[in-house]
Amino acid sequence: MLEILRSIVQEVNDAPDLRAALEIIVRRVKQAVGADVCSVYLTDFDEQEHILRATDGLRHQAVDRVRLPLGKGLIGFVCARAEPVNLADAPAHPSYHFVTETGEQPYHGFLGVPIIQNRRVLGVLVVRQQKPRKFAELEETFLMTLASQLAGAITHAMASGELAAMEGAKHRQRRFMSGRSGSPGVGMGVAVVAFKSAELHLVPDRKADDPEREEESFLTAVESSRHEIMRLKERLGDSLPEEEVVLFDAWSMMLRSDSLVNSVLKLIREGCWAPSALRRTIEEHCRVFDKMEDPYMRERAADIRELGRRILSHLQREERWSEDYPAQTVLVGEEVSAVQIAEVPTGRLVGIVSATGSSSSHVAILARAFGVPAIMGVSDLQVSRLEGRELIVDGYRGRVFLDPPPSVFDEYRKLAEEVRAQSAEIELVKGLPSQTADGCRVPLYLNTGLVFEMGGLGVDEAEGVGLYRTELPFMVRDRFPSEDVQMSNYQRVLKLFHPRPVILRTLDIGGDKPLPYFPINESNPFLGWRGIRISLDHPEIFLTQLRAMLRAAVGFNNLRIMLPMISRVSEVVDAKTLIQQAYDELVQEGHPVQMPMIGVMIEVPAAVFQAGTLARLVDFISLGTNDLTQYLLAVDRNNPSVADIFDDMHPSVLKALMQVMRDAKPHVEEISVCGEMAGNPLSALLLVGMGYRKLSMSAGSLLRVKHILRQVNLGFAEYLVMSALRCEDAKAVHALMEGAMQEIGLLHLIRPATEALARDA
Ligand code: PEP
Ligand code: MG
Repeated sequence: MLEILRSIVQEVNDAPDLRAALEIIVRRVKQAVGADVCSVYLTDFDEQEHILRATDGLRHQAVDRVRLPLGKGLIGFVCARAEPVNLADAPAHPSYHFVTETGEQPYHGFLGVPIIQNRRVLGVLVVRQQKPRKFAELEETFLMTLASQLAGAITHAMASGELAAMEGAKHRQRRFMSGRSGSPGVGMGVAVVAFKSAELHLVPDRKADDPEREEESFLTAVESSRHEIMRLKERLGDSLPEEEVVLFDAWSMMLRSDSLVNSVLKLIREGCWAPSALRRTIEEHCRVFDKMEDPYMRERAADIRELGRRILSHLQREERWSEDYPAQTVLVGEEVSAVQIAEVPTGRLVGIVSATGSSSSHVAILARAFGVPAIMGVSDLQVSRLEGRELIVDGYRGRVFLDPPPSVFDEYRKLAEEVRAQSAEIELVKGLPSQTADGCRVPLYLNTGLVFEMGGLGVDEAEGVGLYRTELPFMVRDRFPSEDVQMSNYQRVLKLFHPRPVILRTLDIGGDKPLPYFPINESNPFLGWRGIRISLDHPEIFLTQLRAMLRAAVGFNNLRIMLPMISRVSEVVDAKTLIQQAYDELVQEGHPVQMPMIGVMIEVPAAVFQAGTLARLVDFISLGTNDLTQYLLAVDRNNPSVADIFDDMHPSVLKALMQVMRDAKPHVEEISVCGEMAGNPLSALLLVGMGYRKLSMSAGSLLRVKHILRQVNLGFAEYLVMSALRCEDAKAVHALMEGAMQEIGLLHLIRPATEALARDA
């Protein structure tokens, strides 16, 4: 059964559209369980009906015609219960409803399983038998597994309007895919698919600008792959078992075979871009092998995929991606990265949509810094079908509209207008001091470093840099950047902000920031080798970075060094020793370096409970509330399935922040917050009420936070903290804060255009 399941899933994944996928399912399932009928009913929520969308066994003409009112019959019963219903004698069941159009005879055996996505029952997959038959448990789980596979495709078809199209144009409604808001705002533009190198299945369909050049690149890539395979065979020939060695010959034969090469060339000549022609041809070949019953032959599909990946990687080397970014680009990807964002030419990025990640992922943080709307964790995003499609990104509600009708465009244009008006209101505080209405100073600093250039964002408004993430120069290269390369990078930011202070954070790779040339394979990367742990284990990398930082500060002397992911006192002691070593070396070499202020991030619960001890060892501390929330609440900040429960306004997080303020304050001069909490006006207000006087945030948040702080008295912020600490959960804290904003007439700045959005909630 497992083998059959695997091959059906593969066939369904390769189906060109939903209709084809449903037909594959009903045909293969009927055969697999030896039923007389297999059908799929989908629910039309607008029309309140269950509609027969595919069948093998009932009259074909009944498809799309048989419609049951919502909740009617056994189909309605399965939907209402949201669990499988397995009956030996269906007509005896009180919900049984006899339908004549299907050519039904009274079938007795009935097994219906719901198709569910995100708690919503989308339809029913059903098998039926003329004779009384109770289906086996194994058959039930088999259907459930397939139904869960179908759910994603159905949700996508709903979002893309494909389902509506089955109904004809009159039913075309606004459709959208849902995710999490990663960055607020509205973006309207054209999708450009960002994908990682050599991931064949993610290669989007594109047209070739110059088919002759594509053809040439492809043939060169084939030739390079063949040489590579032969070299591998020579090198590994002696150490591999014979059957593995044969594989190299098989690959090189395939590369010479006309069927593979010619199929790709044919598609290229029809106007297809070489990588997508390759993907389609490999998929086609795999389908043939996947359908074979013999497990050995089926395994060959994996070999073909591997071969495809090899050719693709050569192809990518051959032709640098001549990515053509439209003026209004919406970057879409399975896992959009900071580097891909940085590659979009300035001013063209209007939205980001990622199938994975959540609002606390680094990509979302970056999007907020740019003020670009972003939606994370859109699980039913079918990336390869999106290239060049028109999208509206609703960063307020986490919705992506695909090829929206003009009415939806109109509505969002109005909304964008409202947002612009609101920005104008916020802009009025530009240049004014950051302080509460009663004059308590709260200097605001900038979080930056995730992109190459700051492009002036927030430079004038900020009183310095509160967090410079140094990872990017490491992420965009194919090796560790040299001391000189790093130095010029750091020098640029130190110079730009001089004489204002700049906190450079030492390398914080690991977690969701891997380096392509420094692979870390861990099942729990956020609890693993990350941040300071890597730096201390690799003093050669750490010392190079420290030397670059110290040298960069010569002549500016506004550098501060901050250590991430501190969970033990010894890490601070060891890191300080290495900083001293770098300093001594440079002095000996004749560089006029100065010892900078050194600080630690408090972002791990262990550090919260030792905040006083840590504070004694350093010159400043900064709270990384993103990681602190993740570790305190045991919620992976990148996992969309638990994004709902990632909340930095959880009372436990607030209590931890109170405790750090209480324990660290007597021992250290400066305490700041550089997690995203500082950039959200609601939580920023709570931080100020707790006693935090330095907040560091993305450029996109500076003016909004300042604007709100300037309208509130310190006493009010302190009162809100006392009330928040009495709340039982994060929801109550949000309600409290939003209520407070409403009271002082500022709610429209927290959730802009709420009214326009509510019309369609
Ligand atoms: C944090 O964890 O709050 C933080 C500021 O660091 P990062 O988001 O880079 O992990
Ligand atoms: Mg962190």
